[in-house]
Amino acid sequence: CGIVGYLGHREAYPIIIKGLQRLEYRGYDSAGVALYHDGQIQLSKTKGKVDDLQKKSKAEISTQGTLGIGHTRWATHGVPNDVNSHPHYSNSGNLVIIHNGIIENYEAIKQELKNRGYVFHSDTDTEVLVNLIEEVKKQEDVKLGKAVQIALNQVVGAYAIAVFDKEKPDEVVVAKLGSPLAIGIGEDEYFIASDASPFIEFTKNAVYLEDEEMAIIRRGKEIKLRKIKGDHIA
Ligand code: GLU
Repeated sequence: CGIVGYLGHREAYPIIIKGLQRLEYRGYDSAGVALYHDGQIQLSKTKGKVDDLQKKSKAEISTQGTLGIGHTRWATHGVPNDVNSHPHYSNSGNLVIIHNGIIENYEAIKQELKNRGYVFHSDTDTEVLVNLIEEVKKQEDVKLGKAVQIALNQVVGAYAIAVFDKEKPDEVVVAKLGSPLAIGIGEDEYFIASDASPFIEFTKNAVYLEDEEMAIIRRGKEIKLRKIKGDHIA
């Protein structure tokens, strides 16, 4: 399983596809990509190989955009199929997430969210997490970074995640506990990946998140590293 993301000035799609191929050694059963372009999220995902994703995505979405996230899934909750593949949308369609790892207490959170009217399309623990982030963001009226922090303090499990909001397409929030997550820092561009292999050709400058650490990555700004437990996020 693997994650790749890009926020900068280049086309994200080829970086993500090539990056996912470099992470294939980690093992996976499905692959997917979400790109932001012109006010829209373009999302494509499939059971199968990155080659299958490439064929499917080229046929069904516009692959433009300088912000994107991609994923290879090793199913833990829900069989390997197209719907359970990542990325996953939140109910509003504004948030989109990729996740490696396991949310152990997802069933209780899912029930709570269902009681509040949330609808689930997949059998994954990941779709529960993205909707929890959405609910926290709405209830607490906080920015995405703060909402991710609050939500992660309610979950038990392991994760490397990357999430962005269609309404704020100059920002990606990432977090890590258990699963690896590296950020490559270029000139006015950021790369996100499970290891440095997807971005090594672009930059040698990398930050490896520690467990219980998260980062708020913004176009043209310094990255903000924060502890998931404790640190204040404005
Ligand atoms: N638990 C998630 C799922 O089953 C993520 C699995 C992974 O690490 O790829 O969808």
